[in-house]
Amino acid sequence: MNYYPEPILKLINSLSKLPGIGKNTAERLALHILHAPNHEAVTLASDIIELKKSIQICSVCFALSDKDKCRICSDPQRDQTSICVVENPTDMAAIEKSNAFLGTYHILGGALSPIDGIGPDDIRIKELFKRAASKTIKEIILATKTNVEGEATASYILEKLKKTKIKLTRIASGIPMGGDLQYIDQLTMQKAMEKRYDV
Ligand code: ZN
Repeated sequence: MNYYPEPILKLINSLSKLPGIGKNTAERLALHILHAPNHEAVTLASDIIELKKSIQICSVCFALSDKDKCRICSDPQRDQTSICVVENPTDMAAIEKSNAFLGTYHILGGALSPIDGIGPDDIRIKELFKRAASKTIKEIILATKTNVEGEATASYILEKLKKTKIKLTRIASGIPMGGDLQYIDQLTMQKAMEKRYDV
């Protein structure tokens, strides 16, 4: 690729640092940007600068926000007595897309993982307990992932909060809608059986 002039090489190098972008895709993107109308390239560059300047973390729930308090934490239409605990902003976005939840969130920023040396002080668990102690919280929904780390995190929070009056729930897991039973993994099937309901 050394036949490209230096500015193109620099852009290829920067783009190839993005997740899922290899050298070839980075080359294609860089050439696309080069041939795009001037205003498109300028908008892309200024959007990136604007993003880095304006996005901060909500002081209540730690979601991405362009203000001190995010849109959800400052919305009186949302149930501010209910907190859905998730590991990261993408999990929150997935729940928001479903329109199934009208409360608030708490973004932990990861999950407990003793093997990787991630303990309670490394994620935002203390901050969750502080919110839980505020007396206004009625329900905490544990929506951490259903893998080992997510389950460990949910159990830890459950253990610490079980003596409070807060209703503690865990999101259900089981067979996906339209799912073919023969392709369901063992753990999912066990959970689906355990959580079976009366019809
Ligand atoms: Zn917030």
